[in-house]
Amino acid sequence: MFTSATPLSSSDPTSPLILLAEDNKANIATIASYLQARGYRLVLACNGEEAVALTCSDNPDLILMDIQMPGMDGLEAIKQIRHTCKLSTPIVALTALAMKGDSDRCLKAGADAYVSKPTKLKQLAATIQNLLQS
Ligand code: MN
Repeated sequence: MFTSATPLSSSDPTSPLILLAEDNKANIATIASYLQARGYRLVLACNGEEAVALTCSDNPDLILMDIQMPGMDGLEAIKQIRHTCKLSTPIVALTALAMKGDSDRCLKAGADAYVSKPTKLKQLAATIQNLLQS
């Protein structure tokens, strides 16, 4: 349905650009349509390598980073964005990992916040708004 690295909407160019790095098509569809309805612009990555590359090329205002992705995972992508690219773009980790301590690993890697899966869209939107305003 969606191809990666394709801007999904041609909405107001001044609205915040969000990079969604996620490998699950159902999650992409759910989150993308919700955020587009709220007026955000979106760019998609389906693995960590794409997420790092698109962060550098498209300079998004915020990144939603799934942790479990094929190839380079979200934790490694966050580390590269912080330490290799030296970017402080706000990052929200999306994690299905249930164990306590996994959220800490996301934050330690450089994420600013995390939202656990299954993703509650209202919580996600509030987290995004918070980070964009700070
Ligand atoms: Mn995943």
